Amino acid sequence: MTADCLFCRIVAGEVPAKPVLETDTVLAFHDINPQAPTHVLVIPKEHFPAAGDMDPATAGEVLRVAHLVAKAEGVAEDGYRLVFNTGRNGGQTVFHVHCHVLGGRQLNWPPG
Ligand code: 5GP
Ligand code: ZN
Repeated sequence: MTADCLFCRIVAGEVPAKPVLETDTVLAFHDINPQAPTHVLVIPKEHFPAAGDMDPATAGEVLRVAHLVAKAEGVAEDGYRLVFNTGRNGGQTVFHVHCHVLGGRQLNWPPG
């Protein structure tokens, strides 16, 4: 637990969030400002700043749960996008790694 980290505080139950799925090591909850009909964040309960900081087991569990979220939200069949914004130029604003699960509409690239 990193006291000044928003997502650590969500894991601790100090900040409310709308949960989607939870495993022993990972939590998935709805993004507060959705960019698509389905927009869920998947985070490890342990604090890692960014995607490259995760150990392989944690990274694998985040990806496994991201797909379970897509299935639970009904977007797995039509397709979805997983995004790890990383660092300032990558658009990361919360420095507790999170995988965005986006779906429910055609996603254009580049985003805009
Ligand atoms: P980033 O820009 O770091 O990749 O994504 C951070 C995400 O966290 C944004 O999509 C933002 O809407 C979301 N977010 C920020 N604060 C909160 C919050 O308090 N609760 C939830 N559920 N999502 C948040
Ligand atoms: Zn954290």
